[in-house]
Amino acid sequence: MTRLVVVGSINMDLVTVAQRFPAPGETLLGERFLSVHGGKGGNQAVAAARLGAEVHMVGAVGDDAFAQPLCDALAAEGVGLEHVARIENCSSGTASITVSSGENQIIVVPGANARLTPMHVANAQSLIACVDAVLVQMEIPLETVEATLRIAHRLHVPVILNPAPAQPLPEEWLRLARYITPNQHELATLLAADPSADFRSLMRRAPCPVVLTRGAEGAWFREEGEPQYQHGFKVEAVDSTGAGDTFNAALAVFLHEGLPLAVRRACAAAALSVTRLGARGGMPHPAEVDALLA
Ligand code: ADP
Repeated sequence: MTRLVVVGSINMDLVTVAQRFPAPGETLLGERFLSVHGGKGGNQAVAAARLGAEVHMVGAVGDDAFAQPLCDALAAEGVGLEHVARIENCSSGTASITVSSGENQIIVVPGANARLTPMHVANAQSLIACVDAVLVQMEIPLETVEATLRIAHRLHVPVILNPAPAQPLPEEWLRLARYITPNQHELATLLAADPSADFRSLMRRAPCPVVLTRGAEGAWFREEGEPQYQHGFKVEAVDSTGAGDTFNAALAVFLHEGLPLAVRRACAAAALSVTRLGARGGMPHPAEVDALLA
């Protein structure tokens, strides 16, 4: 069984569906409201657990009404929460999302995610030392991302860095990652490069191996030499939220099979994830991935 640590964000997504967006100062009646468990960290942890990995989360929630349901949802998927901190006098991470006619407006308040410190990662060192890989994204403070890269590197544990949301990072940090998993826009931002540059040339310029996702088209990957292509799997797309998270989780879970096979499985798992509503709703079990690949 693959063992993983996910260092990342845990959010409650608060989704309001309305006929139109309110003007400043205006109050509108909405049509529907739902709350959905999210955050890239939590999502990747759930996707990896569903794919059969033993997963431990390093993250933080606040002391508000969302904290317990967020933790319960992760625990229900079998995610280990020993290193999820409860931050006092702090809200849990939230994303307030208004959806209207297929467009959305989103305000993210990082809350407790912004209080996940290098110390929290250092406290999980003995756990990190005995896992197969670490997954980290960028919805937490950059100093915590750096600490994750440095600690895992020192312990010889491979890190998959999902550089989302994108910001430029020092080349030295990127060299500490076993793989980075951007989309084209994120790779350009990460390298502070021209976003219209050919993505293959950007991949060659990266100082570490890259797995680049291309939506329905699939993914490209490069360890050294020329970038290789893995086609996407044809599915009826319903909701692409969470595709990237499922992709990253599957890559980590199947990395032991070698990069080309892991990318193939990641494309299949992510394709399945877009066939159902919600970020976590479509995250598949291994048998579904096997069936799509058969
Ligand atoms: P992000 O949302 O992070 O930019 P992508 O949209 O590139 O990520 O999706 C990640 C992966 O999910 C892709 O590499 C692909 O394998 C899969 N995927 C995404 N959308 C589809 C789709 N419509 N059909 C099939 N596979 C998809």
